[in-house]
Amino acid sequence: MVDVVIVGAGPIGLFLALLLRRQGVSVTIVETRDGPVFDPRAAVIWPRTAEVLAASGLKGAFDAVAGRLSGVELQVRGARRGALTLGRLDGPEPKPWIIEQHHTEAVLRKALDVEVLDRHTLVSLEQQADRVVAHVVGPAGPTTLEAKWLIGCDGSRSAVRKQLGIDFEGRAHAGLECLQVNAACTWREPPREGFCRFDLTAGATLLSMPLPTGGYRFVSFRRVTTEPLTQPTLEDAEAQLSSVAHEPLKLELVGPTWLTRARFQDRVAARLRQHRVLLCGDAAAVWAPIGGRGMNVGLLAAHNLAWKLAAVVRAEAPEALLDSYDTELRGVMTRIIATLPLNRMEYPSSAFGVRLLDLALLTAMKQTKIPAPIERLLSLYDVAPGGGAWIPWRLPREGERLPDAELSDGRRVHGLVDAGRWTLLGVGCPASAAEGVSTREVPLHDKDGRAWVTRKPRLVLVRPDGIIESVTTSANRAQLRPVFRPALASESRPR
Ligand SMILES: Cc1cc2nc3c(=O)[nH]c(=O)nc-3n(C[C@H](O)[C@H](O)[C@H](O)COP(=O)(O)OP(=O)(O)OC[C@H]3O[C@@H](n4cnc5c(N)ncnc54)[C@H](O)[C@@H]3O)c2cc1C
Repeated sequence: MVDVVIVGAGPIGLFLALLLRRQGVSVTIVETRDGPVFDPRAAVIWPRTAEVLAASGLKGAFDAVAGRLSGVELQVRGARRGALTLGRLDGPEPKPWIIEQHHTEAVLRKALDVEVLDRHTLVSLEQQADRVVAHVVGPAGPTTLEAKWLIGCDGSRSAVRKQLGIDFEGRAHAGLECLQVNAACTWREPPREGFCRFDLTAGATLLSMPLPTGGYRFVSFRRVTTEPLTQPTLEDAEAQLSSVAHEPLKLELVGPTWLTRARFQDRVAARLRQHRVLLCGDAAAVWAPIGGRGMNVGLLAAHNLAWKLAAVVRAEAPEALLDSYDTELRGVMTRIIATLPLNRMEYPSSAFGVRLLDLALLTAMKQTKIPAPIERLLSLYDVAPGGGAWIPWRLPREGERLPDAELSDGRRVHGLVDAGRWTLLGVGCPASAAEGVSTREVPLHDKDGRAWVTRKPRLVLVRPDGIIESVTTSANRAQLRPVFRPALASESRPR
C-alpha cells in the first residue's frame, strides 16, 4: 500500500506528486492519457506561483524554457494609450513567467522521481477505515491500487468527484466567449519586446502575449448572447482580432497549434475532502480564464495541500488539519469567481464602460510603472487563506503570504525560509530553537529602515507553504507550540 494515489498527471497532479515526494511520502500517479499533453492552455505563471515553483527547486528548469513579461501596453479602440513596466514586487520572481502549459507539465514530469502510470484510468473507488481502494483499468486490464489517501487531480470532469457524489456547484459563465490562437502577426506597430498588449473596444477585449518560442498567444474575450458555439477558422480569428485592435491583422499559425473558441463554467466542488479522498486543481474548481489564473491557483492549492497531507501521513498532525485545506481553498476560489468581472482589461465592457476606462487610463498612463495595486492583484500574492484586498501601508497579517524584503543586514527574507518546513522568525528578538522547526533571527527593518512584517519585536511563525501562521510576543511563545510541534500535534487546535 502506498501513502497516496494521485489520479491525473496534469500540472496539478504532477506538482502535488513532486511536493509529496520531497516530503518523503510514497506516491503512485495514474493518468488516462498516453504520455504528456500538447495542450498549451495556460500561458503565464504569475509571481506567487513562480516563487513557489522556484522555492521547490525548479527555478533552473523553468528558466531554461520560460520568458519574462516586462510590461503591458494599452490601446483603446485602436488608439495607443502608452506602456507600463512590471517588476516592483517584493518577491524573488517579480516578473511573470511566460510559458505554455505543456512546457510546464514537461518540466514537472521531468523533475518527478516516480514514473507516471500512463494509460491507466480510474473507474471507481471505495473508502475503507484505513485506506482507499482504487479500481483502475490499464493496458494489462483491470487492477486495484491501495493507498492511505487518494487525491483527485483529474480535471473538471473529475471521475473522483463523481464517485464521491460531490456537487460541482455554480453555473455557466453566461454571455462570455474566448477565442485563443497562437500565431505570428503583422502589426502596424508591434508591441515592445517582452510586453503584452491589451486592446479594448466595446463588447470585446484582446490580450496579445509574446511567446518565448516565437509568435503570440492571442486571447480575445467577447460578449455573446444566443449564438451557438462554433470552432473558429484562421479567417474568423483574423476578423475578430482585427476588429478589437482596429487594424487589419494578418495571422500565421505557429506551433503548437492552438486555435479555439470556448465558453466557461464557474464552479466550486461542494467539499474538497471526503474522509480519505481530496480534490485538487480543476477537479476542485473551474472558472473563466479571465486573468489566466486556473492552473496557477491549482498549483498553489497543491502547495497548500502537500505539507498538510505529508504531516498527516507521518502522523505528525491530526487528520483534521486536512479540513483546513477545504476551508482555505474554497474561500480563495469563491473570491476569485466573484471578482472575475472586475478585471476590465480582459472582461468586455459596454461602449460607455470603455469610455470610462479610457478616462481612467488618461491618469494611469502618465506613469511609467503599472499601478502597485494592479501589479499586486496580478501577482496572486493575495491568493492566500487570509488574503483580501491589498492595502499598501498595512503590514501583513496571519493567513497572508510572508513578504520578501532585503533586510538591514543584507539578507533576503525568502532566502531564510526553508521550503516545506515550519520556520520561526525572531523579528528583532531572539527565537530559541524548537523541534521540527527552522529558527532564524532577523532584523525588524529592511534596508531602507522600514518595518517589513511587524513594527515591534515579535515571533513570526511561518507555515511550510510560506503563509504566516501567527505573530506573537516572546512572552506568549508557549501559545505557538501546539500548532507546529510534531510531538504535540495531537493537541493541535482546530484549524
Ligand atoms: C481554453 C482554456 C484556457 C485556459 N487558460 C488558462 C490560463 O491562461 N492560465 C491559467 O492559469 N489557466 C488556464 N486555464 C486553466 C488550466 O488549463 C487548468 O486550470 C489546468 O489544466 C488544471 O490542471 P489539472 O491538472 O487540475 O487538470 P487537467 O489539466 O485537466 O489534468 C487532468 C488530468 O487527469 C487525467 N484524467 C482525467 N480523468 C482521469 C481518470 N479517470 N483516470 C486517470 N486520469 C484521468 C486527464 O487525462 C488529465 O491529464 C485554461 C483552461 C482552458 C480550458
